[in-house]
Amino acid sequence: MYITVLAVVLRAENYRDNDKMLTLFSGEKGKIEALSRGCRKQGSHLAAASEPFVCSEMQLYEKNGRYTLTQAVVKDDFYEMRSDLDRFYCGSILLAAAERCTVPESPDRRVFALLINCLYGLTKGADPMDVLLFFSFRLMYALGQGLSLGNCIYCMEPSVVKIDFDHGGCVCADCQGGVEFSERFISILRLIYSSGVKDIADAVYGADRSETLKFLRYAFDTVNIGHIKAVDYFDDEHR
Ligand SMILES: [Zn+2]
Repeated sequence: MYITVLAVVLRAENYRDNDKMLTLFSGEKGKIEALSRGCRKQGSHLAAASEPFVCSEMQLYEKNGRYTLTQAVVKDDFYEMRSDLDRFYCGSILLAAAERCTVPESPDRRVFALLINCLYGLTKGADPMDVLLFFSFRLMYALGQGLSLGNCIYCMEPSVVKIDFDHGGCVCADCQGGVEFSERFISILRLIYSSGVKDIADAVYGADRSETLKFLRYAFDTVNIGHIKAVDYFDDEHR
């Protein structure tokens, strides 16, 4: 049986002499493992579509639960992203996170739209730190772990300085629980909350770098994405 999906390559590993095993992600089908046969042969019509980051309209042949890529029309290769190390590492974090938070045969249009728009933003010159914050914050909503960004969830105090993903909201200085963030950082989150998914292409948030990474790690831990090595690249001691 043939199916057609719009999918992005999350991972591509060499397989046999001329093939690759692809981990794909599509909004309609979730995560898909697919064999790209002969794509490493010179002149293969599947070569371009079998690279990480590339988003293509793909025709897959399915037999006994195994997929083989038969045709592909590249929609966006996000090529500009690869010319800059910060953008490349940022993109790699997005792919790794998407791979860990999606499952086969489970449609996830919100995560897919978020991933594609963030990759697009990176190629259009969005700051990688802005993209990481936008992605990690909105991913939590897409995965059902959104935050209430208003008053303290315990005492209704308007001034909040902590975030508590376990209880889905912000916490004031006097109440227990949560992880500390600046009021400025929390107000940037409110700004991202009220924006559209396409806004990342020309948004400038300018959040503090260490707070952004702290938030991303907290968010990824909460939804069991866990540690992604490329995140360490953005730590201050590596700048
Ligand atoms: Zn409180």
